[in-house]
Amino acid sequence: MQLVARLKLPVLVRSPVRWVQWAWNHPFEDARLIVDQAGTVSYFSLSAHVQTAIARSGMILAAAVVVVFVGLSLSLISLAWKNATLNESQRLRAHSETKLFSALKDYYANFRPGQEIDDSRVLELINALRDHDQQMQSLEERVSRQLAALNKGLGRGLSIAGISANPERMARANTKIRTIEGAETQGSDFVPVSANARQIQSELQTYEQLMAVYRKIPPDSPISRYEVSSPYGLRSNPFTGKQQFHPGIDLTTRGDKKVRVALTGRVAVAGYHADYGNAVIVEHSGGVRTIYGHLESIDVRVGDQIKQGDVVGIVGSTGLSTGTHLHYEILVDGQRIDPLIAMTIVKNVQLIEN
Ligand SMILES: [Zn+2]
Repeated sequence: MQLVARLKLPVLVRSPVRWVQWAWNHPFEDARLIVDQAGTVSYFSLSAHVQTAIARSGMILAAAVVVVFVGLSLSLISLAWKNATLNESQRLRAHSETKLFSALKDYYANFRPGQEIDDSRVLELINALRDHDQQMQSLEERVSRQLAALNKGLGRGLSIAGISANPERMARANTKIRTIEGAETQGSDFVPVSANARQIQSELQTYEQLMAVYRKIPPDSPISRYEVSSPYGLRSNPFTGKQQFHPGIDLTTRGDKKVRVALTGRVAVAGYHADYGNAVIVEHSGGVRTIYGHLESIDVRVGDQIKQGDVVGIVGSTGLSTGTHLHYEILVDGQRIDPLIAMTIVKNVQLIEN
């Protein structure tokens, strides 16, 4: 029990080594513990050897705990350090190429003769630049592939709609084509250097041309709440019974009888025709024309500039007609196309663009 008796404050402020020495060599004396349990008294002998063993094991255990704690702390610190340097290099890699270059430039600009080159810093910057370059390359490859696939789909859409016109020429008509060269003159710093970038530029140009063609095809029906009473293509003539080519679609309406021009344009024909009855032909940009036949009345005159949705006439049954309906045609470069297919495809493509 001398251990407790001697453990006084002055001991704690001695140097740790001396304290450990003192505790380790502390002379214990044989002791006896008296336990009084409900009147029954028991004695436990605690020899000096056992007390020394207990005290020394306690010290060894405490030392072990300290060693484990310090070890753990050190590994945590080293982990945090590694993390911090990793984040630093990731942060560098996330930087734009320009910033990386300026970081490298700054490093050399601040370099003084006799100063030791920080190889790891330079290497890190160079690696970050190389990674950035590789990322850009694979991104360019992907963009180029996706654009090519998109353009293929758009081209296929046009051929399904029966539009065989040269997209380049059709797109050029009255349309400003947005290209990267165009963007460059507006102050963009995009300068295609790699083969991939040039490929992207060319695909973008094709994309713009194809989309310009799509924008020239009327997307909407000239009448609201319509039903197709006769489709485009071969059909038996209702008058002669012979197989005949139907160059447009016949539409009946459950809504109002107003016929609205499908796209902005100029009225080229407005008058009576033996077959078409009261008919209006509107010229749009890029060699596209729309024809509206069998009208009850005509609301426009030749030369009128009309906007998409303007009323050109009222649905009727004039000319070679068996009942009240609108005969609607779309022509591209003088070639008739199926208006129903064209409307469907154009609608779908507009979904891509919006
Ligand atoms: Zn018809």
